[in-house]
Amino acid sequence: MRTEIGTDLLLAADLLRRGDLVAIPTETVYGLAANAYDGSAVLKIFEAKQRPAFDPLIVHVHGKGQLGEVAAALPPGAEVLMDRFWPGPLTLVMPKGGRVPDLVTSGLDTVAVRMPAHPVALALLRSLEFPLAAPSANPFGYVSPTTARHVADQLGGKVPYILDGGACTVGVESTIIGWEADQDAWVLYRPGGTPVEAVETVIGQVAPARKRVLPAAPGTMESHYAPRKSVHIGDVAALMREHAGKRIGVIGFRTGHGAEFGEVLSPGGELPEAARNLFAAMRRLDAGEAEVILAEVFPNQGLGAAINDRLRRAAAKRT
Ligand code: AMP
Ligand code: MG
Repeated sequence: MRTEIGTDLLLAADLLRRGDLVAIPTETVYGLAANAYDGSAVLKIFEAKQRPAFDPLIVHVHGKGQLGEVAAALPPGAEVLMDRFWPGPLTLVMPKGGRVPDLVTSGLDTVAVRMPAHPVALALLRSLEFPLAAPSANPFGYVSPTTARHVADQLGGKVPYILDGGACTVGVESTIIGWEADQDAWVLYRPGGTPVEAVETVIGQVAPARKRVLPAAPGTMESHYAPRKSVHIGDVAALMREHAGKRIGVIGFRTGHGAEFGEVLSPGGELPEAARNLFAAMRRLDAGEAEVILAEVFPNQGLGAAINDRLRRAAAKRT
C-alpha cells in the first residue's frame, strides 16, 4: 500500500466513508482513525497497529450532539465536564450506546469519548456522518507520534493517507476519567493533557484507579510508550555514574545534565512545553547513537503527572 501525506480533507473523508484508515492530527498525538460504527473498518486499526483486541479505542466526536448514538447515558457531572473541557484533551468513559461495535470497546459495556481541539480533526469530523475511533498512530507499545512524519516513519505502507495538521500542540495523550457507580466517584484511568487538578476544580476529587479495574488499559500494561533502547528514570547524576562508559542520552527538564546526547524539554521550566517535546525527544534518542536513555523525574503536578507516567512506562521492562 502506498502512503500519502497531505492536507486534503475531502480525500480523507472519502477514504473513511469507504471503510479505510486515515491518520489524523489532534492536539494530543496523531490518531489512526476509522469509522467508529463500522466494525470491519475498526478491525483494520488493530491490524495496522498490531494492537491486542483487549485494548479499547477512544471514540472522537465533534460535539455533545453526537453522543446520542455513542453513549447510552451520561454519568453525573459529565455534561459540566464537557462544557468546561471540550474540545480538549479530556476523555470521558460512559455507558456504551448501541451503534458502537464491541470491537471498539473490547467488549466492555462502556465507551471512551472525547472531542479533539484540533481544527483539522474537527473539520473532518463535522464533514462525516459518523464519529471516528482512533488510538495513537503508532505500532502498539511504541512512542506516540506528534508529527505526520512520525506516523509515516512507522505506519508507512499500512495506512493510505496521513492528514498533516502540523506538530501536536499538547504532545501527550488525553487524560482519561470514568464514572464508577460502585465507588460513587470519577476515577482517573490515565493522566494526560488535561491536568487532574483542573478537572477536580469542576467535579471535586477524582479517585485514583484501582489496580486491574480494566482488562488492559495502558494503566495496567506496565510497558508502553517505549523506545527500543532501555530507559531509566530517576536521579540523572546517579544514573549517569551507573552507566559510565556507555554513550548516554538524557531527557531533562531544564538541562541535559552535560550528557553526550541531552534533550532539554523546556529551558524555561514550563511543563506544557516539556510535554509537547517529550515524544519527539524520545524518538530522536531512540534513532540516534545513544546506547541508553536516562530521564529525570518531573514535578508531579499539572502536565508533569502525564510526563512522569509516560516516562515510567517507557522505562518499564517489557514482559
Ligand atoms: P490510545 O488511544 O492508544 O491512547 O488508547 C486508548 C485508551 O483509552 C485505552 O488503552 C484505554 O486505556 C482507554 N479506554 C478506552 N476505552 C475505555 C473504557 N471503556 N474504559 C476505560 N478505559 C478505556
Ligand atoms: Mg497509544
